[in-house]
Amino acid sequence: MHLSTFPLRLAVATAVIYCASSTNVAAQDHIPVQQARVQQAVDDLTARLGIADAVHVSIVPANRLLMSVEPSEHTFELKVEDGWADTLDDSELTAAVAHELGHVWIFTHHPFLQTEQLANEVAMRLVSPKVLAQLYDKVWTRTNVRGDLARFLGPEVARGLASPEASPDAPSTQIP
Ligand SMILES: [Zn+2]
Repeated sequence: MHLSTFPLRLAVATAVIYCASSTNVAAQDHIPVQQARVQQAVDDLTARLGIADAVHVSIVPANRLLMSVEPSEHTFELKVEDGWADTLDDSELTAAVAHELGHVWIFTHHPFLQTEQLANEVAMRLVSPKVLAQLYDKVWTRTNVRGDLARFLGPEVARGLASPEASPDAPSTQIP
């Protein structure tokens, strides 16, 4: 009886070491997983926005803006802070990518009109203002800086979000 506990203890110790090392491997593997998820969203949305330029996603250790896009020769580089995409559900990720592709669209059509509001106008061809507002909330919570939604989405859209009656998916209480 006494001897039989020895192999069991050994097995437990081995299992602990195995788990610790497999967690490490999973953390390293996670960068390509994030990259692939964001790249998939980019590829879907570039097609829908009619953007012909290649947009490459890279996961970077830190990005002050969490996600940002930069032009490089004939392509664009979308840099995403490691871990940021994991905090977003699929609709928020779509909204975030649509916003960045809004900047790409402006770069290729009206390079001198680059503004946050215009990037969102392009994004809102594909995503609802409600999800964009939800995304800004997450960005501002994470960066600890609160912005003015009206400046980002335009005063009319922000007003619409502030009054539930004006929201297209809220039940209408108005008599036609
Ligand atoms: Zn932007």
